[in-house]
Amino acid sequence: MQFQPILDEIAFQIQRELAQQGPRGQVARYIPALARVDAAQFGIALRTCDGQEAVAGDGQTPFSIQSISKVFTLTLAMRHMSEQALWARIGREPSGNPFNSLVQLEFEQGTPRNPFINAGAIAVADRIVALYGAGAQRELCGFMSHLAGEPIAYDEEVAASEAATGYRNHALANFMKSFGRIDHGVQEVLDLYFHQCALRMSCLQLARAAGYLCRDGAHPLQADAPVVSERQARRINALMLTCGTYDAAGEFAFRIGLPCKSGVGGGIVAVVPDRLTLAVWSPALDETGNSLLGMKALELFTTRTGLSVF
Ligand code: GLU
Repeated sequence: MQFQPILDEIAFQIQRELAQQGPRGQVARYIPALARVDAAQFGIALRTCDGQEAVAGDGQTPFSIQSISKVFTLTLAMRHMSEQALWARIGREPSGNPFNSLVQLEFEQGTPRNPFINAGAIAVADRIVALYGAGAQRELCGFMSHLAGEPIAYDEEVAASEAATGYRNHALANFMKSFGRIDHGVQEVLDLYFHQCALRMSCLQLARAAGYLCRDGAHPLQADAPVVSERQARRINALMLTCGTYDAAGEFAFRIGLPCKSGVGGGIVAVVPDRLTLAVWSPALDETGNSLLGMKALELFTTRTGLSVF
């Protein structure tokens, strides 16, 4: 299948809608540095298992990947920790609650429902601090650059903006700490968490970096360097399908039919196992925190290509 004409068509349709109606939805306002992003942008890019690439619209413009980073920190933790050590403190069930909700944590004694809600990602960040100590941020950035095949960096302004206003994340981390679910200092763990959310990448870089998820765990660009095992890649895809899109996982499965992970920066990464990884970006979000036009673009793509895990 030739993907470039398909992405061109989707970008044309979405950009026409943006020009005619203006952006619907809202950019994330609770993080001051994200509130200033121009909502009238749209990008899309993909990379197939055998290295074909296609990109359209603003597919090469870097943006704040936010919660998409949770896939990569989970991957990094899975690479280096025993299953027992990793999953002892983190569940694997969809939450059905907003990504930053405190409610379930209380019922479940400080154990987050899954690694893709904020509490779960903060617990994963604690595990990464356990692995790398003060070098954790450097290690994560190096891992992202290794996956993308080019240097990737943090947006320090976004990280500082989140640290200054992330009251709820502080609450989640302190709450888990009170149950003994976090070993390291709350400040140190949150510093890593805020930085991972502030990674700046384009759709094309994300489609490349996530390539191991459609390649049975093999490195996206180097055939001989597994990122994770085949089984681990399957498991990450399963978590993305059930827990990757806040409390809209059912809607994503219904309309799009692929494992996806979204972020409040407006990006979404989607995986077609054994075929390709796809990334879309448009900053305005719907009420569930997912990119409104990003979802629409993914739906157009799967409808047009017939690709689905079902
Ligand atoms: N940094 C954001 C937060 O912690 C990430 C949210 C998201 O993308 O879901 O609130």
